[in-house]
Amino acid sequence: MKIMPNRMDRGFEMYQKEYEEKALQVLRSGWYILGKEVRSFEEEFAQYLSSKYCVGLASGLDALWIAFRVLKIGPGDEVIVQGNTYIASVMGITINGATPVFVEPDEYNNIDASKIEEKITSKTKAILVVHLYGQASNMAPIVELARKYNLRLVEDCAQSHGASFNGKMTGTFGDIGCFSFYPSKNLGAFGDAGAIVTDDAAIAEAVRIFRNYGSEKRYYNKVVGANSRLDELQAGLLRVRLTHLHDLTEERRRLCRTYSEQLTNPVIKLPEIREGATTVWHQYVIHCGARDKLIEYLNEREIGTTIHYPIPPHLSEAYRYLNIQRGALPITERFADEVLSLPLYNGMTEEEQQYVIDSLNEFYV
Ligand SMILES: *Cc1c(COP(=O)(O)O)cnc(C)c1O
Repeated sequence: MKIMPNRMDRGFEMYQKEYEEKALQVLRSGWYILGKEVRSFEEEFAQYLSSKYCVGLASGLDALWIAFRVLKIGPGDEVIVQGNTYIASVMGITINGATPVFVEPDEYNNIDASKIEEKITSKTKAILVVHLYGQASNMAPIVELARKYNLRLVEDCAQSHGASFNGKMTGTFGDIGCFSFYPSKNLGAFGDAGAIVTDDAAIAEAVRIFRNYGSEKRYYNKVVGANSRLDELQAGLLRVRLTHLHDLTEERRRLCRTYSEQLTNPVIKLPEIREGATTVWHQYVIHCGARDKLIEYLNEREIGTTIHYPIPPHLSEAYRYLNIQRGALPITERFADEVLSLPLYNGMTEEEQQYVIDSLNEFYV
């Protein structure tokens, strides 16, 4: 049996008729940019999160860099972020000319809150929290630190749609929550899409203006902005998927519970969930000291897996200019060698998952 790490076609097939009807409706409407689908999605997604405002954007990366831009964080400023994140989190900071300051992760793969304070300097302007793999970070001490040092708090929720900490949705703890709706995300569009959420009317307004060439009124430009609009077609399709997000998340939870209950191989360390936090299981990530051997073994059985992420941002070629040497972030670097994301997707069959579980349990070093 051939198993792919992800199957986005399955997610489409589950509600195919609804997606097709919505796509046709938008195509036939004659209105494709900034219309009622975007407005409705913004309202519905804000309501889903219990946030006051949502502004649709063209991607998750745009959400991140535009967030720091409207917060006026730029050259000379430092932003604290975990070392083991997707590189887009870091690009959101550096596109603005600001400097990322990396902090090691804890055993839940999220930023180790106890190691943030030692990194705060007079240049620190913000903390960017990434809720990696779908699990909410340890928000109580982070919110406290942001308050104590008067720092902006931005959340990268590209993987955590619907995850919460002490009952509060990720994306609503700080100044701005940044979302991606890239097709493979838990709330995925059928192309690129993103959004910011905020409770601050002035921030929402600034992002709304920025995404449309800096103009509120056509041809009257207040600032040098971007073209980062969420389009009507994607917004319409996202509205359909949002109505099913609860069920889609529950299905992921069921699949991951099965993994956690049935994986018994002692060479594989299973993911854990922090007390008070929930996860929406964007990925089911195991740690294995013999990770590369495990990948090879699984490949022989035609089981595909993914590494999120093999090269930590501070060691990537793009960030050579930061001049951070290997060894500077030993936990982050070890995680890059150990982590492995198991096949996981909505519509995964029992038979498919059983084959993956049996294969993993039969692996030995
Ligand atoms: C996907 C992702 C992004 C970027 O989102 P895009 O829509 O692909 O630009 C940023 N941060 C994290 C953690 C992500 O997983």
